[in-house]
Amino acid sequence: MEFKNIGAIHNYPPYMKSINPINIFQKVPSAIFINFPFCKKICAFCAFNLDFNIYTEEMEERYVKALIKNMHLLNESGAFESVDIKSIYFGGGTPNLLSDESLTSIIDTLNLYINLSAAEQVCMEATTVSINKKRVELLRSLGFNRISMGLQSTDDYYLKMLKVQGNYSDFLTAYNTCMDNGINNVNVDMMYRLPGQEVYHWEKSLSEVISLGVPHISVYSLLLNKENILYNQVRNGIYPEQQSEYEEVKYKEVTNELLSDSLYLHNTIDEFGLVGYENVYNKYSWTGETIGIGAGATSVSRNYVYDSVSAIDEYISMLDNSEIPIKHGLKMTPYNKMIRHMTLFPYYLNIDKTGFTSEFGYPISAFFEKELYGLIQEGFIKELENQYYLTLKGEAYAPYVSRCFLDVEQKEAHERMKFFFDYN
Ligand code: SF4
Repeated sequence: MEFKNIGAIHNYPPYMKSINPINIFQKVPSAIFINFPFCKKICAFCAFNLDFNIYTEEMEERYVKALIKNMHLLNESGAFESVDIKSIYFGGGTPNLLSDESLTSIIDTLNLYINLSAAEQVCMEATTVSINKKRVELLRSLGFNRISMGLQSTDDYYLKMLKVQGNYSDFLTAYNTCMDNGINNVNVDMMYRLPGQEVYHWEKSLSEVISLGVPHISVYSLLLNKENILYNQVRNGIYPEQQSEYEEVKYKEVTNELLSDSLYLHNTIDEFGLVGYENVYNKYSWTGETIGIGAGATSVSRNYVYDSVSAIDEYISMLDNSEIPIKHGLKMTPYNKMIRHMTLFPYYLNIDKTGFTSEFGYPISAFFEKELYGLIQEGFIKELENQYYLTLKGEAYAPYVSRCFLDVEQKEAHERMKFFFDYN
């Protein structure tokens, strides 16, 4: 065999394609999540196991000091450099428990590093009883333009069962206070398949909230597991059983119909908003990056997905020692990113074929033909020319649909992906 030197390779790749410089230097539209994992009382359905994080003023003081240090350290590490923050979400827990001084100092610190006024949405999660005129005015003056409240039901019997703070009348007062004082983008969390509840109860509750003209409604099915107080109360016969999960499709059907008849857009699997009231946090946390700040907050940034340590004392102590409180994460390969994209797609109701190809360089069918075909056959998804979307059955069993793609990772993806990527 004859060998010839036809020119040295000093760079890779030896070829270039046309590219727009804007795409190279553009900052990524992203979201910030600030976690305040404390509540005054634990709701009976809470899945967050917050019983160790009961709110006290002393704990707030220590935690906020750590949170602010966390922001300074993130900035020193360059975390805010390549992002264009579109959404800031204060979640938890009950972040609206933060005192005026704490909240102001958190916002002042954020303002040092990002252009908060350029964010499309700044949202505060609140209990209905933590809302009053003075608080709404303060939130507004600090740049908040959205409030999310957990109502769950308009029936006080269920509110007592769920051990949520406040009753329906408290919610109405809080809702009107937001509206009358300049924050008219309000989300209300509602919950169905409560113990003893039937579809007509749910219809009544949801219709009452819709009739108020609430601009954004999030709808969840009650998940009972050993972490919940309510789980044991149902097991011990204090409250009746939930309807079977086979009723889920019926609840979804009623929910989708009632909301679409009232002109709500179905934005994510559990979110419905009137035009212009979409939850932008979810939009950017899927397509962009998320910087999670606070104990237990998750971030997706610069090809990494990672969590801040969740134990409060450890979180505070690491920051006291000027350590960034991150211990676990993963540097995502193209393969991890693709599985993540597919696993999350049911949450966003559909997946765009062209978008997948431009993101990953290959058509979706090259990797997931078998799973997509199986899901179509089982009636969980349907295919259109440029997208796959969840059917009603797919919505009711979205976790199952997600898991199909997660299983690929665990079983055979290595082999399948190695064909396309230099990855072991
Ligand atoms: S307000 Fe939310 S986080 Fe706090 S206890 Fe209730 S469900 Fe859990």
